Amino acid sequence: MNVPQNLTILGATGSIGLSTLDVAERHPQRFRIFALSANERIDALAGLCQRHKPRYAVVAHAAQADALASRVEPGATQILVGPPGLEQISAHPETDCVMAAIVGAAGLAPTLAAACAGKKVLLANKEALVMAGPIFMEAVRTHGATLLPIDSEHNAIFQCLPNFLSGDLGGHGVRRVLLTASGGPFREIELARLQSVTPEEACAHPNWVMGRKISVDSATMMNKALEIIEAHWLFGATPEQIQVVIHPQSVVHSMVEYADGSVIAQLGNPDMRTPIAHALAYPERIEAGVGSLDLTSIGRLDFAPPDFVRFPALRLGYRALKEGGTSPATLNAANEIAVAAFLELRLPFLGITAVIEAVMNDSRPRALATLQDVLDADAAARRSAVLQIDAMAARA
Ligand code: NAD
Ligand code: MG
Repeated sequence: MNVPQNLTILGATGSIGLSTLDVAERHPQRFRIFALSANERIDALAGLCQRHKPRYAVVAHAAQADALASRVEPGATQILVGPPGLEQISAHPETDCVMAAIVGAAGLAPTLAAACAGKKVLLANKEALVMAGPIFMEAVRTHGATLLPIDSEHNAIFQCLPNFLSGDLGGHGVRRVLLTASGGPFREIELARLQSVTPEEACAHPNWVMGRKISVDSATMMNKALEIIEAHWLFGATPEQIQVVIHPQSVVHSMVEYADGSVIAQLGNPDMRTPIAHALAYPERIEAGVGSLDLTSIGRLDFAPPDFVRFPALRLGYRALKEGGTSPATLNAANEIAVAAFLELRLPFLGITAVIEAVMNDSRPRALATLQDVLDADAAARRSAVLQIDAMAARA
């Protein structure tokens, strides 16, 4: 057996971060926990440091660093602070593999730093790729990084493609990719009820246990909109080559259709440890702690077309992809502000996509050449979304 890979986990205290630790812990001969980061849950991070003894732990503020220092073994773990600390553990010469599991735009800089350092990057943080697609993919190519998708749908598509290929899908005999979507908790709720659904109802996903932001994204189906854009950048699929299929059981994680009519699907229990283990060990296969799929007890698998009236986010996702340039960054930033407002009870559920559409209508997409272009579009969309939310509250 080779020496263990040094693993850095950005967002270690989150749902994906903890599932990653669960898989890695099953294979101590393969993986060593090199660095961990957290934003708020310092108690949780202290526990993880005591258990895994990482070389580095990164927190958001100096006060948290002091609180953590009193709880970790002196000399075992060095504590770093803020975005520079995150970039340091991503690009550290001894880091082999980076799990990018921070939620939202905050994950962009450290994930990009990992790509620029030529690391093996396990991408859960889809928002980073949505915002900065061309810049991120260029960094991966230029610096020889290996990019492996963790999002269950994209991991499934990756597994169904012949090799990890990007661009010219048609030239490789691929007709289209079929992105499955559970439809979230409100797939069948009465339309009139949607306006008054609560954050708790929105976060109660039927099949997956996830962080609150992605849970709300699943309820609006903005998650699928972001995934359409993610599939474009990862696999070079055009908007016309990406079809969303509602599949309430979340057993078929996605499919690839070939020119000869073959459709290849990846199936499994809805447990993120499967794509995480796949990417961690790629191209080998390892135990993930996930049980066998019991198809006979599941009994049936249903498929339906998506409802673009109930879920306007899907239309906005295709629109942002077709507009290109800064438009996906605008969509993503407006969504982050609107979701936060919904979770804080400052915006009704249907207001989320209304705010995003208003922000998109008010901003002119620009070409995206540098990281600064991305950050400018992100900041402008955040300001615009705040104004839209205030205006909506004033009208209510
Ligand atoms: P989560 O909310 O459970 O965890 C988020 C992590 O990011 C936490 O460790 C938190 O400390 C950290 N974080 C949050 N804000 C930060 C900031 N400003 N700076 C630094 N760190 C910060 O979220 P999650 O469900 O684990 O999702 C993480 C990412 O993975 C998201 O991009 C999500 O879309 C993606 N993803 C998640 C799932 C899932 O099943 N949970 C599936 C597919 C993709
Ligand atoms: Mg997904």
